[in-house]
Amino acid sequence: MKTIGLIGGMSWESSAIYYELINKKVKELLGGFHSAKSILVSVDFAEIENLQHKDDWNGLQELMVKSAKQLENAGADLIVLCTNTMHLCSEEMIKNTKIPFLHIANATADTIVAKKMKKIALLGTKFTMEKDFYKNVLKDYDIDVIIPEDNDREIIHKIIYDELVLGKIYESSKSALKRIIKILEDKGAEGVILGCTELPLLIKPDDVDIPVFDTTRIHAEKAVEMALKDERQYI
Ligand code: GLU
Repeated sequence: MKTIGLIGGMSWESSAIYYELINKKVKELLGGFHSAKSILVSVDFAEIENLQHKDDWNGLQELMVKSAKQLENAGADLIVLCTNTMHLCSEEMIKNTKIPFLHIANATADTIVAKKMKKIALLGTKFTMEKDFYKNVLKDYDIDVIIPEDNDREIIHKIIYDELVLGKIYESSKSALKRIIKILEDKGAEGVILGCTELPLLIKPDDVDIPVFDTTRIHAEKAVEMALKDERQYI
């Protein structure tokens, strides 16, 4: 079994779920006492959030490259960056390390393509919805991406930063997200990407009429797939 390198803390609320998901998946596939081999580098989210909202992506890149190198030096076999937003720094992280990097948007796109869907709504931080780094990966798979209107993007961004990363779950925010997803469904979205690793804390598949792509689960389970690729017991 390969050792999964996790970069977490963005926020730790979702990193804890990654840890649980990768261990549950290994147990499901290998059984018995098996659990995932992993190394976690966890950052202080206050520093990250501060640089994000100052738009200091060079500073963020430095921190992400440093974390990736820490994982590599510690003996990780692959890198899993446990946040969608910080994939803005993925190119530089890949350039500065030798071990494989499992991109969350690639993992998600593979899952969407397997379901033969073409038009998908993307929810996440404003960085993820508005900048190109994430949508471009999906476009490479011929996925037509739609995002909410300006006001609704603002609402989702605030729900993420004022509530979810702080572990606050409110019914009113769940209703707001359901309303936004319904609008996107009416615009033709066949499914919705929960493109922020904390969004699955609020929205469950049963809450909406269209299929939900939970990036936290997809990413964590793909990581296990990669870690067990050559494992005889795992087919
Ligand atoms: N975890 C979130 C994401 O998946 C947002 C927090 C962050 O900015 O990293 O985008």
